[in-house]
Amino acid sequence: AQLDTLDIIVLAVLLIGTAAYFTKGTYWGIVKDPYASSYAAANGNKPGKTRNIIEKMEESGKNVVVFYGSQTGTAEDYASRLAKEGKARFGLETMVADLEDYDYENLDNFPEDKIAMFVLATYGEGEPTDNAVDFYEFINGDDVSFANGGDPPLGNLKFVAFGLGNNTYEHYNSMVRNVSKALEKLGATRIGAAGEGDDGAGTMEEDFLAWKDPMWTELAEKMGLEEREAVYEPVFGITEREGLTKDSPEVYLGEPNKMHLEGTSKGPYNAHNPYIAPIAESKELFTVKDRNCLHMEIDISGSNLTYTTGDHIAVWPTNAGKEVDRFLNVLGLISKRDSVISVKALDATAKVPFPTPTTYDAIARYHMEICAPVSRQFIATLAPFAPTEEAKAEMGKLGSDKDYFHEKMTNKYVNIAQALESVCSSAKWSDIPFSAFIEGLNKVQPRYYSISSSSHVQKDKISITAVVESMEIPGRADALKGVTTNYLLALKQKQHGDPHPDPHGLTYEITGPRNKYDGVHVPVHVRHSNFKLPSDPAKPIIMVGPGTGVAPFRGFVQERAARAKAGENVGKTILFFGCRKSTEDYLYADEWKQYQEDLGDNFQLITAFSREGAQKVYVQHRLQEHAKEVDELLKQKAYFYVCGDAANMAREVNTVLAKIMSEQRGIPESKAEEIVKGMRSANQYQEDVW
Ligand code: FAD
Repeated sequence: AQLDTLDIIVLAVLLIGTAAYFTKGTYWGIVKDPYASSYAAANGNKPGKTRNIIEKMEESGKNVVVFYGSQTGTAEDYASRLAKEGKARFGLETMVADLEDYDYENLDNFPEDKIAMFVLATYGEGEPTDNAVDFYEFINGDDVSFANGGDPPLGNLKFVAFGLGNNTYEHYNSMVRNVSKALEKLGATRIGAAGEGDDGAGTMEEDFLAWKDPMWTELAEKMGLEEREAVYEPVFGITEREGLTKDSPEVYLGEPNKMHLEGTSKGPYNAHNPYIAPIAESKELFTVKDRNCLHMEIDISGSNLTYTTGDHIAVWPTNAGKEVDRFLNVLGLISKRDSVISVKALDATAKVPFPTPTTYDAIARYHMEICAPVSRQFIATLAPFAPTEEAKAEMGKLGSDKDYFHEKMTNKYVNIAQALESVCSSAKWSDIPFSAFIEGLNKVQPRYYSISSSSHVQKDKISITAVVESMEIPGRADALKGVTTNYLLALKQKQHGDPHPDPHGLTYEITGPRNKYDGVHVPVHVRHSNFKLPSDPAKPIIMVGPGTGVAPFRGFVQERAARAKAGENVGKTILFFGCRKSTEDYLYADEWKQYQEDLGDNFQLITAFSREGAQKVYVQHRLQEHAKEVDELLKQKAYFYVCGDAANMAREVNTVLAKIMSEQRGIPESKAEEIVKGMRSANQYQEDVW
């Protein structure tokens, strides 16, 4: 059977609607700044205001615009770092712009003495980020036309470009490559090389730093810029609000927006407006003491949130009390943690990333990624504000010596507060303007989880299967604890009767701002994906999902079992699952038995327990062992799904599949690889990887 027409239409729509869904966690995330629309009005690009970038630059006196195409905030962060550096080192009047906020028909009017910078992330399959889609389509359009119709149209435009990509994907950094090519084709001049950062090799930050220095040198030369002694200029002004306390009703204590503050939260719930959902049930899935994997049922009834099997749910975390305390303490802000402050953008083009008035405590707890890895450039920025001369010198060294930084910081997985503590713990770092943290740390990002339930079976309850992140770091006393998963673990402990849960000594403000999350609630929203079952359940499916990669497949199998039970014709359903030991981390071991009863011989669960035999066995090996059957089913147009680890497993499965086809069909491997590629573009081969 071929894909039927409806399938093709549905898949095409999904593909267009949610371009670029298959990607690695780092580039994955919220559609855009959750506060962009709610707070933009107070801070810059007012809704209804100009979408004309040239006019915007003119009226705000800017000569450099740094556009970003960002999904999780990294490209946005790099864009704002470039803007700041241009201002600090060369006195440039810089602004940062979300690509989605402007139109590009008049780019041919871009003044010759100004610069456009592009910081562009690429998605797994080579697509633009959500906020860059329109721009990308415009400049690559066959009949792209500009206001003046000059030839070449962009003869005046000078630009620089940096891309964020991942070399484990085929279309590595295709965004920056294609945009650069398109702009040059239209007559624009690029200054410096188009930089390429590689998350696959884990060198993104260093690639960025290595690219930007020669770029600035060339830019300074071409534009006749004079370098000055770098001066830090805060982007945000902080005002203490004497008349307000943390109990004043207008003070945000972590509420994401005004409706939440006023207790009138309502849908639509999305990346701008999370739903505070009750957790209906939670349980531990592992049977070992030292590792945790959570199964949680999140109740979305009455919220207007909907999902379909294969979608993702986003969970908004709260930072652990221990880390909030550490952060406030090292800055000398512990006694002021509940002081109320207002934050205002000092520059008309900047946006405050959270609602104010608020408190230092709420900012650190709910709005900033204070636990994330620390960047070398940020350390360099903070050096002048160190509390002692010795600390200043050490910060300078860390900021400028890549290997030294690696040894002292990167290897130890420290966050910003741990980094500052390790440089100087005898004095507080209270000279650092708080604005530097708002500028230099990412705003809190929701984490995504593949929904592990079927919407056909339980439309009002979304389940997740989340392994709790905990990593031993050599040379460090405490393990590195994942922000969101340990918060979820605490919520589970609370649900099971512990009034003050503190997994691994991490405490949480578990009842949320103003106790609004009491009764075990968690802020969420749903993101629709194109990782979908065939619309016809009679079609065979093959699923490969080791570890938590099994999450969406629990949903898939749950759905097919329910359909079979209801008498529908359900096709062959094969699941390859792998874990360490059948007695430790075999997820949903009991449930599969029930599904087996419902689906009968049509369900086949093939397991790989890597630590049970003399040799490690993984799902890829099992796939190979079942080569004949797999190939037969693929010939019958079975859908093939892979979920879980992007870096190794998913790539290997792809390779093994091509090998299987080549062997079984007696065709060259290159031909088999072409077939696999074809399956991917026809959505017969789908990935949900991170
Ligand atoms: P984080 O705090 O975000 O830490 C994650 C990792 O970042 C750490 O392990 C470490 O490697 C690194 N890191 C953090 N802090 C530092 C530091 N200071 N220095 C150096 N490195 C650091 N997970 C599941 O368990 N189940 C799922 O079904 C699932 N589905 C997903 C679906 C999608 C589409 C995506 C993108 C991801 C999915 N994930 C899933 C992963 C999930 O979103 C989270 O990334 C994961 O749970 C970890 O989140 P965390 O906040 O606990 O850890």
